[in-house]
Amino acid sequence: MPEQPNRPPLLEIRDLSLSFHQQEQVAVDRVSLSITQGSTLGLVGASGAGKSSIARAILQLVKPDSGEIFFKGKDVHRMNPQDLKFCRQRIQLVFQEPSASLSPRRTVEQTLLEPLQHFDIGDTNSRYEKVLHILDTVGLDQSALQRYPHQFSSGQQQRIAIARALITNPELLIADEAVASLDVSIQAQILQLIQKLQQDFGITFLFISHDLAVIRQIADEVAVMYQGQLLEHSSADQFFSEPAHPYSKTLLSFAQGKAPVHRPDDKRYLERSRRKAVNSSACLFAGFCPDKMQICEQAEPAMHDVQHKYQDALEPHCVKCHLYNEVNTHDF
Ligand code: SF4
Repeated sequence: MPEQPNRPPLLEIRDLSLSFHQQEQVAVDRVSLSITQGSTLGLVGASGAGKSSIARAILQLVKPDSGEIFFKGKDVHRMNPQDLKFCRQRIQLVFQEPSASLSPRRTVEQTLLEPLQHFDIGDTNSRYEKVLHILDTVGLDQSALQRYPHQFSSGQQQRIAIARALITNPELLIADEAVASLDVSIQAQILQLIQKLQQDFGITFLFISHDLAVIRQIADEVAVMYQGQLLEHSSADQFFSEPAHPYSKTLLSFAQGKAPVHRPDDKRYLERSRRKAVNSSACLFAGFCPDKMQICEQAEPAMHDVQHKYQDALEPHCVKCHLYNEVNTHDF
């Protein structure tokens, strides 16, 4: 995705590829993405699309086969130890299951102090003050300090997990299906909290979700993954009003309760398209696309910027599809 004018990317992913099982299973396939400082990028797609693998590569939990990930202009996989420590402090993760991500044997105070001790931030007094401040930020009070995770509701547990992620002053917060396990009313509270954190502290979010209703509520930009590839990246307004890629249209029609030709999260559907893609240079979506043309089975589509097709579009809108072959192709 081309850079947006006047707003530098905090994170930039260039041509990232990642595979498992000695390169037999491709998880991420030549993905380029950037996240503008202070914005929320919604990364969407069905299970197995490669969303969490991208998060794991950003957090240096897995090594990519190729490609680069730049945080504040430095490649996270080629940093010196000092930069790496700073990077790990400034990029934090919130998981899907708060109960699984919090140690059952640690009190809230111990949970929140641990990152401060690990990164050698402050002294005993200032750490305690910070713990109290961060608890207040996420809507919990001092009475939580000596309690254990099982003594809280799932919504409160997720607030504690968010507090732990926030306590190191992160610039990028990765939320991986962070509200998926919560019921709808708690989900709304956590989304409001995330929006407030962004307004108050200018935190940049990578928000990973399969739930388009959640993404619609929170994202400034949307990136759509399918079988490890990035198929579309645009502003959230553009995506929800005029999605360009046939797969995005399928996802949206399914989310809106309309009957798409295929369920986008159907396992047989995903397996079939994975098999069709192996050893072929076709479009990954060709087996299911209602707009398929002859070329779609013969050549992999390039990424096109279709911004000019939309009136009033201020930001790039990138689509990997032969339908837009008449549009100029950038070096993405
Ligand atoms: Fe459909 Fe062809 Fe576009 Fe693939 S490249 S999404 S098959 S129109």
